[in-house]
Amino acid sequence: MTFTTRFAPSPTGPLHLGHAYSALLAYDMAVSEGGDFLLRIEDIDQSRSRAHWEDQIYGDLKWLGLTWPEPVIRQSERQPIYDQALDDLWSRGLLYPCSCNRKDIAAAASAPQEGAPLLGPDGIIYPGTCRVRWQGIDLSRRARPKDQPLRLNIAKAAQLVFGDAKPGGSFPELGLGPMKESGHIAFTPYELQTTIGDFVLSRRDMGTSYHLSVVLDDAAQKITHVVRGQDLFEAARIHVLLQALLDLPTPAYFHHRLIRDDAGKRLAKRDDARAIAKYRAEGASPQDIRAMVGFDPCRSLHR
Ligand code: GLU
Repeated sequence: MTFTTRFAPSPTGPLHLGHAYSALLAYDMAVSEGGDFLLRIEDIDQSRSRAHWEDQIYGDLKWLGLTWPEPVIRQSERQPIYDQALDDLWSRGLLYPCSCNRKDIAAAASAPQEGAPLLGPDGIIYPGTCRVRWQGIDLSRRARPKDQPLRLNIAKAAQLVFGDAKPGGSFPELGLGPMKESGHIAFTPYELQTTIGDFVLSRRDMGTSYHLSVVLDDAAQKITHVVRGQDLFEAARIHVLLQALLDLPTPAYFHHRLIRDDAGKRLAKRDDARAIAKYRAEGASPQDIRAMVGFDPCRSLHR
């Protein structure tokens, strides 16, 4: 299998130094292994994605010296693939519609007997209100609703793929998680239920979700090494579960440190001050950008 990495930005703002670090790392790793580096545009959020940001992504990455094969995959063109997977999961009785809004979830999760709401990778861990509402009803006999968010019944899903006897899921971490997790990362179905909960797999406004699309696209692009920021380390367990459910391979993960501003805060899309385009306009060179993100080309592992 060809060593393959990818960079998967969302065209919802300018690329900043954190993106440059991630893209350069994925690119250099592929080059040093004689493998492939792919680009994917994660534009499922059409309300925030803009064509001019996408154009700027191509321009910035080319300027940094990166090359990738064409055509580039754009998630907005892949809804039929996502629908197929959702139909599959729906027909296996693993999804249910959710009509709770943020306020309902916050209220149910912080009810007096529940204590403080627990947080998972997607925010407050869903307390299961709609799962209970649909209990005992065979939803798989009905058509899959397209106008409502669909949640994964994580207990049922984990039981199906990992069973009782097995230890659960795992993935190889070649970089570092936020708590310096590395190596063979294993987790149990119980941990999935208590630290992630029933997450949304298809959002009302986009007919898919980051988690579903990323897993399907990494598999379609035969990505062997997912290189991305540590902020997505917790999401890897969700991705491993989905890979097992959808019969997809689990790649190796390389979560890298985050580039922070002077106050130690992680850079966000709105950090225009750190936008690559701004440094370009000021006359910086791609080598300057590498130096700014502390990129040491002599080190093989960037943790
Ligand atoms: N599209 C995501 C972002 O821009 C990256 C997701 C990933 O690398 O898995 O943050």
